[in-house]
Amino acid sequence: MFEYRVEATDGCARAGTLSTPHGPIPTPAFMPVGTLGVVKTLTTEEVDALGARMILANTYHLYLRPGHELVEELGGLHAFMRWRGPILTDSGGFQVFSLANIRRVYDDGVAFQSHIDGSTHTFTPESVMDIQRALGADVVMAFDECPPGGCDRSKAEAAGARTLEWLARCRDRFTELANRGAGPRQALFPVLQGNVFDDIRLDQARRARELDDWKGYGIGGLSVGEAKADMWRTLELLDSALPTDRPRYLMGVGYPDDLLEAIARGCDLFDCVAPTRNARHGTAWTSAEGQVNLKAARFRRDTGALDPSCDCYTCARYDRAYLRHMVVASEWLAMRLLSIHNLRFLVRLGEEARSRITEGAFEPWRSEWLERYRQERRAE
Ligand SMILES: [Zn+2]
Repeated sequence: MFEYRVEATDGCARAGTLSTPHGPIPTPAFMPVGTLGVVKTLTTEEVDALGARMILANTYHLYLRPGHELVEELGGLHAFMRWRGPILTDSGGFQVFSLANIRRVYDDGVAFQSHIDGSTHTFTPESVMDIQRALGADVVMAFDECPPGGCDRSKAEAAGARTLEWLARCRDRFTELANRGAGPRQALFPVLQGNVFDDIRLDQARRARELDDWKGYGIGGLSVGEAKADMWRTLELLDSALPTDRPRYLMGVGYPDDLLEAIARGCDLFDCVAPTRNARHGTAWTSAEGQVNLKAARFRRDTGALDPSCDCYTCARYDRAYLRHMVVASEWLAMRLLSIHNLRFLVRLGEEARSRITEGAFEPWRSEWLERYRQERRAE
């Protein structure tokens, strides 16, 4: 279980399959984000129809509401949200460091105040393993310290060191829980930090590998405001520092063009809230015009599909004029239909990348795709 098979490579890009107790995940793959155990505005049948195989849920949010113990009592996250496929839960590290109102970081863990009601809580590496066990995801992430993007070297170094200390403690607790026998079969992925400092990044990869033979690796601390060139260089470094027969999960990425650039640098799994968040703001991705905002007046009489090359429910049934009308009028259906489209856009991009890698034609396809996507758009 949790074996990762690389089936084809093209340059650094890889096509593979990760096996999990809830089914295989062909990669590269985009994972829709269901922060609170729901991919916003969509049913699990609709998420399944997008072709999504694995979805992501959030430890911090589910711990605060409705509480991991209640989720466990109701049969675990799969049963609770009626999702039969694989689930990954993130460790809550990123949310504690970015959302919680007040926090203090100790060697033992993090004390924080809930962003909902101000109540005080503490996360430790051990408690985060317990919570993720109760939720019952297939892949769980180690608790890490996420320094802010753009932080200085000493801060990145200290956060990296603490992340590794916590990783060893996560491993010990995870192993202890797994050895008890009962409960879900899970894999623990480390989260590698280090911002954009090459030597810290390489040190993180090396020392994480010394701690265990992990089933996969999370790459954290990117897409937090650094220059794109720094992100690509970091991924190129890690591509050679990580084992080739394990999946690499680039956390919090991305936008369509970022996804293709990261696939080209050896990343396999992705998640991002942008598809559903953009949908709520009337923004959609198209393969020939890049990102468009449907509020634009030019769509008032546009009877074309949102993206003529897209195979989603929204593009098959509705035109831009009607979608624009609903966006301008803040109709809920617009948020649902644009979420369906944006999520399918990224899921399909992963599927297409996978077939091009298998054919050995990834590089020319990628540059052509990016050129079309990024070409100058009409003024909005
Ligand atoms: Zn579509």
